[in-house]
Amino acid sequence: MDNVIIGAGLAGLSAAYHLKDDYIIFEREDHVGGLCWSVDLDGFVFDKSIHILYSADAYATSLIKDVLLKGNFHSQARESFIYLQGVYTEYPFQAHTFGLPPQVIEECLLGLVKARYENHTGGRPKNFAEWVVATFGEGIAKYFMLPYNRRQWGIPPELMDYTWIDGRVPTPKVEEVLHGALFPPKKKFGPNSEFWYPEMGGIKSLPLGFVPHIKNLHLNTGVVKINTKRNTVTLSNNEECLYKNVISTLPLPVVIRLLDEVPGAVQDAANDLQYNTIHTINLCIDRPAISDKHWVYFPEDEFVFHRLSFMMNFSRKNTPVGKSSITVEISESKHKQINHSALFEDTLRGLQRIGIIRGKDEVINHCTMSLTPAYVIYDLSHRKNVNLIKEYMESRNIHSCGRFGDWEYLNMDHAILSGKRVADRISERSPHFSTITP
Ligand SMILES: Cc1cc2nc3c(=O)[nH]c(=O)nc-3n(C[C@H](O)[C@H](O)[C@H](O)COP(=O)(O)OP(=O)(O)OC[C@H]3O[C@@H](n4cnc5c(N)ncnc54)[C@H](O)[C@@H]3O)c2cc1C
Repeated sequence: MDNVIIGAGLAGLSAAYHLKDDYIIFEREDHVGGLCWSVDLDGFVFDKSIHILYSADAYATSLIKDVLLKGNFHSQARESFIYLQGVYTEYPFQAHTFGLPPQVIEECLLGLVKARYENHTGGRPKNFAEWVVATFGEGIAKYFMLPYNRRQWGIPPELMDYTWIDGRVPTPKVEEVLHGALFPPKKKFGPNSEFWYPEMGGIKSLPLGFVPHIKNLHLNTGVVKINTKRNTVTLSNNEECLYKNVISTLPLPVVIRLLDEVPGAVQDAANDLQYNTIHTINLCIDRPAISDKHWVYFPEDEFVFHRLSFMMNFSRKNTPVGKSSITVEISESKHKQINHSALFEDTLRGLQRIGIIRGKDEVINHCTMSLTPAYVIYDLSHRKNVNLIKEYMESRNIHSCGRFGDWEYLNMDHAILSGKRVADRISERSPHFSTITP
C-alpha cells in the first residue's frame, strides 16, 4: 500500500475514509476509536471522559449526523454549572454570577469594569493569566478563571499562552455580565450551548460508524519503528511494511521516538512538549436522578476533582432504570502531582460534602480510566516546538494529524477534519485518488 495510517482513532479512520483506496491502517488496541470510546459496566455506559458532539463546520456536521451516526443521536441544550462557595451558577461563570454572595459579585463586576476601561498590561498580554485579567478583570480571574484553568490544565496559567481560546472561552459584553449578575440565566453562551450525543451505545458509536467504510484495518498491531531511509514501518509482530507516505496520528513525542536518526533540535523540541493526564473515576449509583445537570466545574482546591459529569443525562440509555452515574475527572501533570492512593476516598468525600451522594453504600460499582496524553498544554514554547517537529516530519513524508499528531486542542470534529485534510493533500499529489463527499 502507498499509504500507511498509524492509529484508528477518529483522525486515522477519517484519513482512511477520505483516501478511499490504497491504504493500510494499523491500530495497537483491539478496537478502533482511541480516546473516543465507551465501556459498559453491567448496563452503565461510560465514555473515556465525557464526549459531547458539536461543530461549526458544515461538512463535519453532515458526516457525523448522516453518515457516521445515521440518526442515532439527539440534540440537547447544555446544562453545565460551576460550584463555588456552596452555590451552583450556570456556565460560563463570567456571564452568570447571580446567586453568589454579594461581595463575590461586587468584586467580579468591579474587576470587569476596571479591566474594560483601564489598560492593565499596557499592551498585548504576555500569557494566559494576563489575558484573563485583561479580559475579565481581577474578580472573575480570582474566583473562577485562574483557579479552574490551573486545576484542569495542571499548569499555572502564567506559563500558558492563549492561542487556543478562540471560540472556546466566551467573552460576554459588559451589559451581559451585569444582567447575569442581577438576574437568573436567560441566554446560553459558547459553541456547545446545544450539542448532540448518541442515543444508543455511548460515544463509541461515532468511530464505529466509520468501520463499514474502512478496509485493510489491522487491530492489535502496533507500529514500533519507522525507518525513513528504507521507507518501512516495523510492526509489533516484527513484520515490516513498505510505504510512500505515513499518516501518523500518534502523539508527536511518541512518533519522534519511533523514527531513526532525528536531528537533536527536533528531539529536544519533542521532549519539551507538555501535556496532562486525566484520571476518570466512574461511579454507578444506586439511586435515580441524582442530578439534572450534564456537568459541573469545580474551581476550589478543597475538591480533588475539577469536573463532574452525569452520563444518564446525556442519554437515558447510558444508565439502567432507577440508577444514576457520575464521571469524576482529576488532572495530573509535571506541575501538578496527585496522591493516587487517596483519589477514590477523596472523591467520595467531596461528593458527600456537596450532597451528590449520601454515603458509600450508594456506589454499587466503579471503574477508573487514565488518559495520557489527554490535553496538549499550550506552554509558551508550544508553537515553536510543534512547527519545528512537523516541518521535519513532512520532509520525511510523515504526515501527522489528529489531536496529538497536530498537537493542538482538537475536538472530535476537528480530529475528523484533520485526518481528511491530510488525505486530501495526499490525494491531490496522486491524481488517481478521488476523495469522498458525504
Ligand atoms: C478528557 C477529554 C475530554 C474530551 N471531550 C471532548 C468533547 O466533549 N467533545 C469533543 O468533540 N472532543 C472531546 N475530546 C477530544 C477527542 O477525544 C479527540 O479530539 C479525538 O478523539 C482525537 O482523535 P485522534 O484520532 O486524533 O487521537 P486518538 O483518539 O488518540 O487516536 C490515536 C490512535 O492511535 C493508536 N496508537 C497509539 N500508538 C500506536 C502505535 N504505536 N501503533 C498503532 N496505533 C497506535 C491509539 O490506540 C489510538 O487508537 C476530549 C478529549 C479528552 C482527553
